[in-house]
Amino acid sequence: MTRSAHWYPAYIGIGSNLQGPGRQVQAAADLLGEQDGLRVEATSSLYRSTAFGGIEQPDFVNAVAGVLTTLTPLELLAQLKVIENRQGREGDEVRWGPRVIDLDLLVYSGQTIDEPTLTVPHPGIGERNFVLLPLGEIAPDLVVPGLGRVASIPVNMDEPSISRIA
Ligand code: AMP
Repeated sequence: MTRSAHWYPAYIGIGSNLQGPGRQVQAAADLLGEQDGLRVEATSSLYRSTAFGGIEQPDFVNAVAGVLTTLTPLELLAQLKVIENRQGREGDEVRWGPRVIDLDLLVYSGQTIDEPTLTVPHPGIGERNFVLLPLGEIAPDLVVPGLGRVASIPVNMDEPSISRIA
């Protein structure tokens, strides 16, 4: 198969609350950079937040990576799952429950995608401060389809506390 040489910008949300969350997030960013057709151009600080959804569990650590990629959105999603599996993600976690690593495709080159397995932009951008704040740190001027410029998307004041840790 001939692969397009065009490099598309994309943003990946990374989160963990098990087995050394800060290390897991860093490991995922490193593994992203090792994929063929993927270059990590920017990574945000790490952010710590109280878990969402009413389940008693450790705090989450989150970050966002800005990448350039020759992969299609579905190919990129498949690579994110490969990395999750390499880091020991079992795939049977409860919704909003603890997880060793979670990788989400937040934005892909201004595209809107509504497939059974892939929604882009990721709905978390407008709903979760642990996505919005790190994304705003590395890409304040990014225009998210349907939401506008990242820096102009309102922070959710009702959410659990979040702080920048490194
Ligand atoms: P999660 O629990 O966050 O790992 O997501 C579970 C499922 O969400 C995955 O198997 C994906 O098929 C689906 N999904 C839909 N949209 C996205 C997206 N933008 N990024 C990552 N996963 C997505």
